[in-house]
Parts: sequence; C-alpha cells; structure tokens
Amino acid sequence: MHKLTKRCPVCNSKMLGYTDITAGTVCEDVEQCTLCNYYYEYMYGHTTISVNQPLEEFRWSYNTPWEEAKPIQDAYQLAIRIARERRDASFNSV
Ligand SMILES: [Zn+2]
Repeated sequence: MHKLTKRCPVCNSKMLGYTDITAGTVCEDVEQCTLCNYYYEYMYGHTTISVNQPLEEFRWSYNTPWEEAKPIQDAYQLAIRIARERRDASFNSV
C-alpha cells in the first residue's frame, strides 16, 4: 500500500489516497479530496467517480462496452470542468 499525494482535478488540493499495486498491476486506487468531495475509486476493474455536491456519480468497469463507457467518461470530465468553473466563479465573486 502506497500513500500518494495526487492533486484534486477539481480544486487542486492534495488528496488522501492509496494505491495497491500487485504484480505490476493496479488492483485498487482510491483518491479522496476532503475539500470538495471529489472521489475516485478503482477496484478490480470497477471505477467509481463522484464529483460535486449534490453528488454526481459515474461508474463503469472493465467489462462495460466501450460505447457505453465512453459517454460516462465524457460526462465525468465535463462534471469536473463545470465544478472547477463553478469554484473559480465563487472565488472571483468574493
Ligand atoms: Zn477537491
């Protein structure tokens, strides 16, 4: 188990997390931002990402067909972008 200090894609603060690498393969990878509630979880081929409050959750797994997984991945990247812009806007208005 390795402690990592990745940066949150939404608010750029350091996230709590760990990665479990077995035989050169990532089995588990969990990153959580305590500031904006961004959450990333990869567990044995299953990915869950939560962005925003109220929570928007995105899930797919290794056996999700690409044509289904692609729109989910696009949606979560859009959610991150919107969350980041919303955050920047709230900073600017202060
Ligand atoms: Zn964050």
